[in-house]
Parts: sequence; structure tokens; C-alpha cells
Amino acid sequence: MAWIALRVLRGFGAHLGLAGFLFVLLFSLMAPPARAQRTQLKPSSLNAFTPQQDIEVGKRAAADAERQLAMCNAPKVDAYLTQLGTRLVAKLPTNGVQYPFEFHCVNDKAINAFALPGGYVFINRGAIEVADNEAQLAAVMAHELSHVALRHGTNQATKAEAAQGFMGIVSGIFGGSTGGAILTGLGAFAAGGVLLRYSRTAESQADVMGTQVLYDAGYDPRAMAQFFEKLEAETKGKNPPEFLSDHPNPEHRVERVEEEIDKVGGPQPNAKRDSSEFEAIKREVLALPVAKKSGPRGPGPPPPPSGSFAEYHSDFFTLKYPDNWKKYPGGEGGEREGISFAPENGVLDDGSGHSALAYGLIVGFANVNGDPGDDKALSSGTEQVIGELQRANPDMKIVRRGERLRLNGQPGLSAYLSNESPAGGQETDWVITVLRPEGMIYFVCVAPQSSFDKYDKTFNAILDSVRFPK
Ligand SMILES: [Zn+2]
Repeated sequence: MAWIALRVLRGFGAHLGLAGFLFVLLFSLMAPPARAQRTQLKPSSLNAFTPQQDIEVGKRAAADAERQLAMCNAPKVDAYLTQLGTRLVAKLPTNGVQYPFEFHCVNDKAINAFALPGGYVFINRGAIEVADNEAQLAAVMAHELSHVALRHGTNQATKAEAAQGFMGIVSGIFGGSTGGAILTGLGAFAAGGVLLRYSRTAESQADVMGTQVLYDAGYDPRAMAQFFEKLEAETKGKNPPEFLSDHPNPEHRVERVEEEIDKVGGPQPNAKRDSSEFEAIKREVLALPVAKKSGPRGPGPPPPPSGSFAEYHSDFFTLKYPDNWKKYPGGEGGEREGISFAPENGVLDDGSGHSALAYGLIVGFANVNGDPGDDKALSSGTEQVIGELQRANPDMKIVRRGERLRLNGQPGLSAYLSNESPAGGQETDWVITVLRPEGMIYFVCVAPQSSFDKYDKTFNAILDSVRFPK
């Protein structure tokens, strides 16, 4: 310590008075290193997955993403992203976990990037094209890598399972979570959607850790704030950047990044901002042919419904459904949360990272009181159910409404609605409502309009099999 103080004095002594002398002495004795003041972040303990499962889940979802997305197929670009990513990873605090980081360029002009659990990072060409320099691209990548290190994806899936009644879907995805058995219930990329729905808190954490990583890797950390300012500016255009729908803007995003830049010690005088490699890669990316917009997401139509049936029993009804369909319980509220039945490939990503049923049957409950035989209660309850469905699906329209039928001898109403199908095009939703002593039970039979006829027989067979307890 004394030796260090002496060196400082030799260097500056000539220009300092007594106060300066004391200041330098005190400063050299007391000033904590700038690192100590930075925000400390670590993964939330709320996580049903182990880091090893993060890798397994991410690897499956990444393989599926590569099949479904148009990739740049530009080895030089991927090699450059890998080199840049590796430089950032060297400064990424992973709590000792060795993630198998991979970096891929996606041939999509939308400004976006995403990282799957376990370290599979995808960067759209749009994000490379919009970056002014290497430091800004490094900022996006450092943000994505922070989501991996902070294990936000599986934390999010854990929370969704606990809070939003994703029980069935998540256990469908992760059921028997060893190797090949993972992700059986849904297309793996749809599972990715569940894994990529970050909270604003998670976003802010990724911004803060990303700023630290950027700084530690020798880049000008102000590039993080500059990139977000750029995105804000783009938001005012007619196509808000996709990045902001996957990575929702936390409050005071830019201010929080600037605060962290101060905490890490401010921009370094020799910070790296750009490189000739970045400029060369950006030119190469700009020259790539534009990929055709990929068709509807999803792994193709489901196999036809089996002619043999399995039985489902609850306290409120029983029914039979094709034995090659799976059950997706609606939530943790037990049987009153409802249940869905869908074939393989029948549940898809709706394009915004949410799982949506494209083929199959949803059974739900609504709080409607009234005598099961009361016509008025049945029709007003049916209006209520349809209204709720429309609120959840703003594009849903009524095609035909209010036809009477009987389900297991009970009076019911039937209506047809149309909606955008997550499989592309329009879908038909056939809604049947029955008033029961415990409330209204509704059945929604769902299939794309173009194939509804093929499912009509199956839906009728399921509805014919419904039995209510006496
Ligand atoms: Zn993010």
C-alpha cells in the first residue's frame, strides 16, 4: 500500500499542493475499487429447473428454431458473431456453470435477437444492420447473454406454471425432463415461446448485467444506452421493433443503463467502439438475399384423429376423446379450471410466444348462476362466455349464434365463431354451452376453417359421449 501511494505521489506530486497531497494519500488508501459499487445480480432461486436442464431444454428449442427460422447461412457472419460472443462470455458471470454458447445469424430484417436457456443465441440480420458499430451489436449480445446467465427463461417458465395455470402445458413440455423425453407436448419452438416471455424486471436486470459485461470486455458501455435510444426512435415509425415485444421496455431503461455506467466507473478512455471486421460483416449481411417470409409457424398438420377413444372423468362431466390426443389441464384450480384435448402438433405458438390451441377441444367453466332449465339464464350466460372469448381473442367474430341443442338430454346452445388460426388462415370455433347446477360448462371445438369438415365427425362423437352426473 505504501509503495503504491509513493508511486502516485511521484507521478502527481509536482502539481499538487498540500491539500492535493492529502487527497491523493487518502484516495489511495480509501477508495474502493469501482467494481465493488456495481449492482450485484444473480439468478432467482425460483426455478424448477437445474442449469443442466436449462441446457437440455435450450438445445431442443434451438434445434427446432433452426429448422423453422430462415438462417443467414453465412459461415463468415456466424464465425464473427461467435468470436464477438466468446469475448463477451469471458466476462459473463455464470456462477460456475459451463454453458455451451452458440451464436447464429437469422435471415430476418426485423430488429430482434433472442437467447434460449443454456446459451443458444440468435441474432437477426436486422439487429446487425441497424447497429452503428461493433459496440452496439456487442450491447445486444451482452443483454441476451445476461438472460442466459440469470436463467430468466426457465425462471419465467417456472413462474408461468405456478401463477398462470400453465401447469398442463409446461408439464407437457417438460414432462419427464430427461433428454429426448423433454418437449413432447408442444413443438419445441412453441416451448421456446414460453421460455422467452420476460418480465420488465428481467429486462432491467439483463440491461444492467449486459452493461457490466460490455464494460468488462473493453467496450464503451454507452453503446447499450445508444442501442435502446435507437430502438425508441424506431418505435415512432410504423413498424415498432420486434425486440421490444420480446424484451418489454422497463421504466427509465436508458437512465438505468446510464446509472450502471457510472457505477462501473464511467466509460473507459480507450474503450472499443468499432472494428473493421464489424464493418465488413455488416456489408456482407446487407448483401445477403432477403429470405422469403416463413409460412405459418408450426410443425405441419396433426395426424388424423384416431377412431378409438379414451375416457376422461371429472366431478362435473365425463367424455370420450380420440386416444391419440393429449390432455392439457387448464390450471391449478382443479377441474373447474377446465381442460383441453389436442392432437400432436395441435397446440402452436401464436406468433407472440404464447401457446394457442389450433386443433382440438377446450372445456371451460364460467360463473353463471341460474336454473339449468331456465332459457334466459342459458342465453345470457352464453353471451357472457362468448364475450369473454372475444375479449381474449380480439379478432374473433360470431358467424352463427343461438341454436338450440341437447347434450346428454340437457338443454344447450350452439354458436359458430371464426378467428385467426395460429396455424395460418381462419379457424372455426364451435361453442356449445350448457347450464349446470355448478355453473356454465362450455365446449369449444377448434380447427382451421379449411379442415373443420375433417374434424366435424370427431367433434360430434366427443359431444355425443358427454355425460353429466345425475
Ligand atoms: Zn431482454
